[in-house]
Amino acid sequence: MSYYQYGTQTTNQAGHLSIGGVDTIELAHEYGTPLMVYDVALIKQRIAGFKQVFEEAGVAYKVTYASKAFAAIAMYQLLAAQGVGCDVVSGGEIYTAQQAGFPLATASFHGNNKSAAELDYAVTAGVGTIVLDNFHEIDLLDQVLQEHDQKIDVLLRIAPGISAHTHEYIMTGQEDSKFGFDLKSGQATQAFEKVQALPRLNLRGVHCHIGSQIFETKGFEMAAKAMIDLLAQWAKTGFTAEVLNLGGGFGVRYTAADQPLAPQEYVRDIIAIVKKEATTANLPLPEIWIEPGRSMVAEAGTSLYTVGSRKDLPGIRSYVAVDGGMGDNIRPALYEAKYNAVLANDPDGAAVETVSIAGKYCESGDMLIWDLPLPQSQPGDVLAMFVTGAYGYSMASNYNRNPRPAVVFVENGQSRLIIKRETYADMAHLDLNESPSHL
Ligand SMILES: *Cc1c(COP(=O)(O)O)cnc(C)c1O
Repeated sequence: MSYYQYGTQTTNQAGHLSIGGVDTIELAHEYGTPLMVYDVALIKQRIAGFKQVFEEAGVAYKVTYASKAFAAIAMYQLLAAQGVGCDVVSGGEIYTAQQAGFPLATASFHGNNKSAAELDYAVTAGVGTIVLDNFHEIDLLDQVLQEHDQKIDVLLRIAPGISAHTHEYIMTGQEDSKFGFDLKSGQATQAFEKVQALPRLNLRGVHCHIGSQIFETKGFEMAAKAMIDLLAQWAKTGFTAEVLNLGGGFGVRYTAADQPLAPQEYVRDIIAIVKKEATTANLPLPEIWIEPGRSMVAEAGTSLYTVGSRKDLPGIRSYVAVDGGMGDNIRPALYEAKYNAVLANDPDGAAVETVSIAGKYCESGDMLIWDLPLPQSQPGDVLAMFVTGAYGYSMASNYNRNPRPAVVFVENGQSRLIIKRETYADMAHLDLNESPSHL
């Protein structure tokens, strides 16, 4: 097994990287590059991993995929077929899920500034749960529900003041956060009282999300304790929480330096923690909801790029440029995210040099990987960059008017185009081209 191997990745008889039984060099020829390739079997395996321990333990639960990691019609259809719910954070994600025929009753709507129009859309489309984030939103939602003469299930998003160990820019659980009702200052209980007074809002419990790329369960333990302490206070008013949603943030292995737990291990610990805390607080065990995003799709995604130009600075470094970059993967530029890559036509080849992989965008910061050991590469070689399935395509842009890549699903030796490559015309199609008068 090579160090790079995730899911069904292997070296085939041609000596090429294959994923889902499909030769990546053939994928690059058939669909062009940059290309995002998703290993469907691995996504299914991750989903099953998150469900397995809940099922075995006979604990009431819900797994919802945080669609912001990668949202597409085919993805929502895959989720629906695997029996998991989803989190949506915008009207656009609700729309995409709806186009996919996704059962929106199993969806939760998150976000710190949902508009009245988005809330109206969610209610009309039949989104099951609204995760209330702030006082303004409570009023907006109540108004929308009055207009439709409807009720809806809600959770309160709590900022428990716990920060998981991760990069500062992707931390959301600490006190000084734009998300949720603060625990310490009493906002959470104020929100509880406000919602309890509104009969159209059916409060089912609480939600928190302490961060991303979390490698141990200590943070979930601290968060669960804070949440159950809060629910114990509210229980004195006669309220019983049916749902404790502990969010997502389960880590993945971008490089050998990352040592995440398996989905089953996260879930096993979370069940034990919640059981213990609920017992201590003398509360009935709530349904446990989790919201993995990255950990369901990151490792299943591989980006294929074609190698182009090269710049050698003797004694300093060698830049090898590829035909994509920050437009299809902003994470290295935004978070200094680390990745690994191989030559898809020689995945096991011995490294003969160290190069830095540059994107093609007009930013010096558009670097995909610094200091990557690689066999000798030539223009036209295909570079396969691993673990790009989360927050890559979903954060893609048309910077420099570069089209966004195509996306394929691969499984059992078959490939299926699920998102077409953008064309120049696609990018210009919202531009008006009427008369040359200057206003
Ligand atoms: C982003 C987010 C998630 C998913 O986070 P991952 O790190 O991708 O698992 C889950 N819940 C909420 C509320 C989020 O904002």
